[in-house]
Amino acid sequence: MQIDVITLFPTMFEGPLTESMVKRAREKKIVTIRIHALRDYAEGKHQVTDDRPFGGGPGMLMKPEPIFRAVEAIAGKNSHIILLSPKGKTLNQKKLAQLSRKKHLVFVTGHYEGVDARVEERLINEEISIGDYVLTNGALPAMVVIDGVVRLLPGALGHEESANHESFSHGDLEYPQYTRPAEFRGMKVPEILFSGHHAEIEKWRKAQSKLKTKKVRPDLAKQKKSREK
Ligand code: SAM
Repeated sequence: MQIDVITLFPTMFEGPLTESMVKRAREKKIVTIRIHALRDYAEGKHQVTDDRPFGGGPGMLMKPEPIFRAVEAIAGKNSHIILLSPKGKTLNQKKLAQLSRKKHLVFVTGHYEGVDARVEERLINEEISIGDYVLTNGALPAMVVIDGVVRLLPGALGHEESANHESFSHGDLEYPQYTRPAEFRGMKVPEILFSGHHAEIEKWRKAQSKLKTKKVRPDLAKQKKSREK
């Protein structure tokens, strides 16, 4: 897969895209990620990318010309162009799976009050929101989508099965998991996990993944509630 990001803040992407699973996926050539500075596509001495909104109102808007120029230079006919925006469709695991089947994703990230509406009208295939809240610019939302997509690409995760067992992959949440020690500060690992009966363990896990913590472990739910206060 090829991923291109158009941003006013290229350095924000250092770190999240150069560590852990994404780093390994890039090294294994499962994904190629390129970060483009929007300012490189702006004209004039000052490479201006924003202006005041027509009709008045607070703040600045991102101008259409640099964004059109950048997308036209980067995207081809097989590209899927995404605008990160709080008013887009809210991201979920199903959307990540859909995106992971595309060949080329281009992310347009906003700043200030957002982007000129003609970008949405003409240039992009879909608008995606990462939740009902507002962040300062689209860099973090783009990284959230990229991380979620890349880990679904074949070969990106160490254990091929892991993405398949995770929360939301089959509509349920992930079952509780435990490692050593078997007892820690009075908290015991459920007996069934030591039984060696794989079918029974599977049955237990299935039942657990349909339940909320409150029903599974009333003792833990009580502790959790008091910590949340
Ligand atoms: N004025 C806009 C509004 O009320 O919807 C908010 C603009 S926000 C300050 C600037 C940029 O951050 C947006 O253009 C978008 O690219 C990004 N952004 C902020 N919150 C986001 C979210 N929840 N999901 C996706 N992108 C977001």
